[in-house]
Amino acid sequence: MQNLLRLIPKVDECLLAVLEDNEFETIPAGLIKKGIRQVLAGYRQQILAGKDISAQTLSLSVLLGPIKKEIHDLQQSRFRRVINGTGVIIHTNLGRSVLPESTMQMLHLAGGRYSNLEYNLTTGKRGSRYSLVEDLLCELTGAESALVVNNNAAAVLIVLETLAKDREVIVSRGQLVEIGGSFRIPDVMARSGARLIEVGATNRTHLKDYRAAITEDTGLLLKVHCSNYRIIGFTSEVCNEELVQLGRDHKLPVMEDLGSGCFVDLGRFGLEKEPTVQEVVASGVDVVTFSGDKLLGGPQAGIILGRTEIVDRIKKNPINRAMRIDKFTLAGLESILRFYRDPQTVCDNIPTLAMISASVELVDRRAKRLARRLRKSIGGCCTVTIADIMSRVGGGAMPEQNLSSRGVALQPADMSVSHLEKALRNLEVPIISRIEDDRLLLDMRTVADDEIAMVDSGLQQVLSPGP
Ligand SMILES: *Cc1c(COP(=O)(O)O)cnc(C)c1O
Repeated sequence: MQNLLRLIPKVDECLLAVLEDNEFETIPAGLIKKGIRQVLAGYRQQILAGKDISAQTLSLSVLLGPIKKEIHDLQQSRFRRVINGTGVIIHTNLGRSVLPESTMQMLHLAGGRYSNLEYNLTTGKRGSRYSLVEDLLCELTGAESALVVNNNAAAVLIVLETLAKDREVIVSRGQLVEIGGSFRIPDVMARSGARLIEVGATNRTHLKDYRAAITEDTGLLLKVHCSNYRIIGFTSEVCNEELVQLGRDHKLPVMEDLGSGCFVDLGRFGLEKEPTVQEVVASGVDVVTFSGDKLLGGPQAGIILGRTEIVDRIKKNPINRAMRIDKFTLAGLESILRFYRDPQTVCDNIPTLAMISASVELVDRRAKRLARRLRKSIGGCCTVTIADIMSRVGGGAMPEQNLSSRGVALQPADMSVSHLEKALRNLEVPIISRIEDDRLLLDMRTVADDEIAMVDSGLQQVLSPGP
């Protein structure tokens, strides 16, 4: 082992060898050394772990190969576009909502040019950063006032801090949810300085439970959308109208954290009817919060709608400055909201809604198109079939609901399915797939038409390696 370790060349030796290749002349020496160190450390670890490494592998001329590859990889952007073949439409790990082309043009302008971000073009004086989207949000939802912060977690935190710091907040026990990652209602509540008062049982909460819990320390009645789970069977929840009446009777504000707020009724696409944001506003709750990048289909943001008196207090909260959205969010959100002015076309124009509303026939045609290409290109070394599968909305929205979909199922002849899955993930434009019943599935609901050729060439690269 000691002998092998001694054979590992010195970093400076490798550096000189790398620099002999003029392709590497313009790369900063620091980056080259980083690549060298990482490769050498990898071999050192393998030797220490008792792996059988030949002296030949450790010769400078052989090591140069992996070292140059490592340096090349270090230069690549770590942020990558990927192809989503998972069928999960609002995939938090893959960036949630994809934005429409015209929205992207607004982001391009917002980044590359000066803008009227906080400048009133009529008066020539300082303007409000948020006014553009606030008016639109009120127009679309019927809310009195609106405010946008960084994400919905921030929205919930700032509302609780403003309305209920050092006071009690009454929540149904069945709604104390944890959203993936690290957002838990009880923890956010604790951070806001509000005290959580749980009422009811896990499966059933009644109006009388809320009423019995109200004391002079109560600051807020809170409803939380059980985004990512369902209680089924013998259940009951208090409807907004009843809770609002109770709040009015005791002069207490009522808040609803909708999580994945939606402006259109998705019932007509075969999904369970969920109240729209407009309906929740109309039910009389004083504050509503939801995400910008879940069912709304926009950029990451937390949207707060509510009564003017309450939203004004939230705006004045110093924490608001720390949760301020940037110009990209603002430009993107305004563009997305403008699509909602036309209910006839919004589901075609916003990709998240278009993917949800796409008919299974449309997805089927896309799957057939890819399958046809693949049978020609890789049919010799891989079985290609069309599979009836289910897509998911994702993003913690509608957990139990599936959308009928079609996938292209692959079973390679000379490679395990898990190896294929990994190889696709390591392509220059990674293709993210899923494995079911020992087949690799590409759900065509989340693959765009203009990605079909890329999937084809990616699979060719992986399955028929060239020279
Ligand atoms: C998703 C979700 C959140 C967090 O929203 P982000 O925009 O991810 O910060 C909070 N509450 C509920 C009910 C959610 O579904």
